Amino acid sequence: MATMRAVQVAKPGGPLELVTRPLPEPGPGQVRIRVAACGICHSDAAAMDGHLPGQTWPIVPGHEIVGAIDAIGFGVTAWRIGQRVGAGWFASQCGQCERCRRGDFVACRNRSIHGVTRDGGYAEAVIAEATALAAIPDDLSDIDAAPMLCAGVTTYNALRRCGARPGATVAIVGLGGLGHLALQFAVKMGYRAVAIARGGAKAAFAEELGAHAYIDSTADDVAARLQALGGAQAVLATGTGIDGLAAAINGLTSDGRLIMLGVPREPLPVYAFQVLYGRAITGSAGGTGIESEDTMRFAALTGVRPVIETYPLDKAPEAFARMMAGAARLRVVLVP
Ligand SMILES: [Zn+2]
Ligand SMILES: [Zn+2]
Repeated sequence: MATMRAVQVAKPGGPLELVTRPLPEPGPGQVRIRVAACGICHSDAAAMDGHLPGQTWPIVPGHEIVGAIDAIGFGVTAWRIGQRVGAGWFASQCGQCERCRRGDFVACRNRSIHGVTRDGGYAEAVIAEATALAAIPDDLSDIDAAPMLCAGVTTYNALRRCGARPGATVAIVGLGGLGHLALQFAVKMGYRAVAIARGGAKAAFAEELGAHAYIDSTADDVAARLQALGGAQAVLATGTGIDGLAAAINGLTSDGRLIMLGVPREPLPVYAFQVLYGRAITGSAGGTGIESEDTMRFAALTGVRPVIETYPLDKAPEAFARMMAGAARLRVVLVP
């Protein structure tokens, strides 16, 4: 019997362990992806700890999956063997619930999620639904494509829906895995892109990525700086902390939006008067296969690239620990 290597978590909170499993076969409507690269995302931690609904065990984590199709199930007509594809957080929709009937597949009540409710990409192969796939542009490498399937599409979708007009001020809070992509996308989409981070150490990096301005949230008056630039029509919060976000709300235009992309554990301290004239606080999570494809096409066209570290599959525990410690620069990708 054909086998594959995979890295799994056997029970909630359990360690990542390298195992040999039977090579899975695609069912109707599915393809098998021979994994070439799989990004490690902060959300993998919540999945491994068992904090998400509908989880099954053991589970192979990973939802930034990139590789070539090497087997195709019955009824799949739009994809071919050998084609380079990606698959992200959203693995399937039911097509029948109210949200699906309204075309909002990401909010499907019966969705499945790679690395959470079905096996993900910390493996040599993974089964994905054809409906979840994204085609990868030829001029985007496997390892550069992987982070686009979650971090990329999350930030790209948030920006293209943020309501800001070209040339308007858009601020990115945090310059980590999500933030460094959000900043590049904002620059390439034609916004006055402002990077906000703690301390001055990241100012040069922000400038390298094309930022038009840099605000040190520990020393500068964030709201005043943003208002001096006309006010931010959108602020993207990409980190896992809430430092500076209340101040950033005061830096929004009267109809500006604070968009949460990271998932801080603490609640936001917001007074009603801060949003009284129409500011909004909202969020954005991942995207569909075609939206990931849009993200990668845009990245290939404009030169947006992730800063990554790569690790072989058997070094997954070490790679994961580096990401969790915030020591990685900046996105970690497993290369099976
Ligand atoms: Zn993710
Ligand atoms: Zn549904």
